[in-house]
Amino acid sequence: HINTNTNVHNYRERKHISTKMNQQGTDFSGTLNYLGQMSYRAVNDFKSYMNPRDYYSTVSEEFSESRESSFTMVEENPRMMEAVNGSDFLSSKYESLDYDVMENELYYERERTHGSLQHLYVSLVRWLLMLSIGCTVGLFAVGLDLAMTHMAEGKYELIKNTITRCLDYGCTCWAFLMWITIDCSLILFAATLAVYAGPAACGSGVPEIKCYLNGVKIPEVVRLKTLIVKSIGVICVVVGGLAGGREGPMIHIGSIIAAGISQGRANSVRFDILKCFPKIAKVFENFRNDKEKRDFVSAGAAAGVSAAFGAPIGGVLFSLEEGASFWNQALTWRIFFASMSSAFVVTVILSAVNDHLGAITYQGLVNFGQFPYENCHIDTWDIFTVIILGIMGGLLGALFNSLSFRLTLFRRKYLNRIRACRIIEAVVVSLISTTISFSAVYFFSDCHSLRTYEESKYAEHHPVQLFCADGEYNALATLIFTTPEESIKKLFHNPKLAYSCLHLVFFFVVYFMLTCWVFGLCVPAGLFVPALLTGATMGRSFGEGLHALFPNSEWVVPGKYAVIGSAAFLGGVSHMTLSLTVILIETTGNTSYGLLIMVTVMIAKWIGSLFQEGIYEASIKLKSIPLLSWEHPETATNLQAKDVMASPVCTFQPVEQVGKIIAVLSHTNHNGFPVVEGQGNNNTHDDHFTYGQYRGFINRSQLIILLKHKVFFKDLRAPYRPPYLPLYYFKTEYPRFPSIDSIHTTVEEDSHFIDLHPYMNRGTYTVTINASYPRIFCLFRALGLRHIVIVNENNEVVGIVTRKDLGRFRETKRCGKPKLEHLDIR
Ligand code: ATP
Ligand code: MG
Repeated sequence: HINTNTNVHNYRERKHISTKMNQQGTDFSGTLNYLGQMSYRAVNDFKSYMNPRDYYSTVSEEFSESRESSFTMVEENPRMMEAVNGSDFLSSKYESLDYDVMENELYYERERTHGSLQHLYVSLVRWLLMLSIGCTVGLFAVGLDLAMTHMAEGKYELIKNTITRCLDYGCTCWAFLMWITIDCSLILFAATLAVYAGPAACGSGVPEIKCYLNGVKIPEVVRLKTLIVKSIGVICVVVGGLAGGREGPMIHIGSIIAAGISQGRANSVRFDILKCFPKIAKVFENFRNDKEKRDFVSAGAAAGVSAAFGAPIGGVLFSLEEGASFWNQALTWRIFFASMSSAFVVTVILSAVNDHLGAITYQGLVNFGQFPYENCHIDTWDIFTVIILGIMGGLLGALFNSLSFRLTLFRRKYLNRIRACRIIEAVVVSLISTTISFSAVYFFSDCHSLRTYEESKYAEHHPVQLFCADGEYNALATLIFTTPEESIKKLFHNPKLAYSCLHLVFFFVVYFMLTCWVFGLCVPAGLFVPALLTGATMGRSFGEGLHALFPNSEWVVPGKYAVIGSAAFLGGVSHMTLSLTVILIETTGNTSYGLLIMVTVMIAKWIGSLFQEGIYEASIKLKSIPLLSWEHPETATNLQAKDVMASPVCTFQPVEQVGKIIAVLSHTNHNGFPVVEGQGNNNTHDDHFTYGQYRGFINRSQLIILLKHKVFFKDLRAPYRPPYLPLYYFKTEYPRFPSIDSIHTTVEEDSHFIDLHPYMNRGTYTVTINASYPRIFCLFRALGLRHIVIVNENNEVVGIVTRKDLGRFRETKRCGKPKLEHLDIR
């Protein structure tokens, strides 16, 4: 029966036929089922009677079943009893990246043929790519900035004028309607675009990039489509007046640009430099692997921070703190170069646009302005105020994270199932925030004398008069009728008594709630600037309060407390420390506040972590992304490789039959396979089944490429071997390899063989069965591995551990007592 089907190529079709045959009463499938229930070695005896593909599919099905039962065994292990029944789970949607270089024969051959000149050339191209990443990110940032600034200015000017005109004609409600229509339409457009065209562009993108840099592939996160949706969306969000910033999205945009430039391809427009210019662009082959791509993406993220804040050092530190687990000196220098180039491009173009061509004076897109010398004085009293603000920032940050966590759970339960609901929610938030802004302007007349305002160094923008008398300006409206960045600048620099303390508290509460609500919306919006603005309002109101208490004290400078407050709140929310401190120092151009900012950020983080983890970590956990934390769970120290590993292991022989490879790939979703010599047995003293002598490791993607290009040979005994499949074929498919279902072979080809020797990695990391969990964790974390093979003392394979297998162990605290949970993967 089987041999009559030789012309049916597709595996699924054949399976369908076998099911049909079963329904018709043939005993073929029955035989397979029978074989499926037998042990591996018993099935081995039937090998000669069957087509290789069907035989091996039986075996691999059996593997999958045993895999399940081995999970049950692991979970029944008394040492792990406490680990089961975790309420949380990890999503199988997210695959791991592999930062370990595939060092196989092809790789060595290329390295051998590369002379020192070639290495120099690759290194030069790497630097040039870093330069082009920096410059492109800078150009992109300026483009976004100009679009946003002009649109926002136009909108606020129009509304201001309409309100002023309406004061005479009594048509204020029309002005209100106009304001709401503009804002809601922009947000409706942004949300629709994000929900339908690019869901990966929702939010700031910082958690996703953090995951990417730490070895988790988030679908569509570095695609061109996401870049377009993110850019258009963020313009609409900022102009639409939602409490969302552009700085987080700039980090995401920088990363996408870096991924595209470094790989020389954009799949959405079917462009691949390797295919278009195979000779000139051959050097790009060197960059087509997860490790190189990650390094470029780190540079892109740093360039994004640098362009957004004008903070090149902050950018490098952001990548270091939030991103790459593996770091070296050369990389630091390259990333700094990209970061600097991006800041430089932004500075030069913005200077030219603002009529200062040649004078490189404009910092990044966010420039919080220089503090005058007399305000930089730090008094002993400041230490106490910094501690108080740090504690306030930590507590309010924890409250913010907790509210945002609950809101996300609610959203997931009731809103996210229907896509239209996500759009409606965004529009409702826009409606509410515009209504609050309007009501604040309308009902609170926070009028101050214009003379106070003109004392300010940053009074170049006309103050908003609105409902105030001539010679006065409306301080609250001045904060509302502008972009959040401008509002922060005003809070930092306006003189004492420029705002009423009560109105600042009102603004703080409203902005706090709105920022919290906007954070989880499906629109491209970041958290940095809204959180800085919330914190600045907190600090400024504290400063104004202090000034009311000590009216004659020189050391009370409310602007200084606004800077410290913004650091404290963002520190309490994000739990970033190093990069946040440096970014704030760079954006204010003020090193004398450095110590104060550092102390407050540190305190805010400590206090915040007593209650909650950082907002980015929390959002990663909520999305069930299998990210390895910085440290292994303390309670997992008594686990060993044998408690964590998967067994039985699907392995291949160095020269393997095509049918078996196809069957195993079709029946399992494993992404890597140990290559072994010899058969397994369970005669070892520690009672672990072994799967042959370990020889090397091969990835699913490589096997699929070998099958696709049919690198087969017929006869094991004949000396003929097909020539090596060049590296080019693996690189052009990277990173989206075909699926096994797209591979078609005839039954005759199924009995052919593939020689895996040249393609397998012979130098992978292995650990022995008694290695401790922390040791394996360190290897995965530091080297960015995806798999590790567990061997016994004779170098025989006994198990395999993946990054996700480790990530499944998570420590939770119940009633203050740490507990180890073993999460499901769904
Ligand atoms: P990722 O897919 O992100 O690399 P994963 O943990 O899902 O990570 P898979 O390769 O999909 O890894 O394998 C799923 C499960 O099967 C894991 O628990 C892993 O330990 C196990 N596994 C991986 N490779 C093999 C293999 N060759 N033989 C048997 N079990 C394996
Ligand atoms: Mg998987």
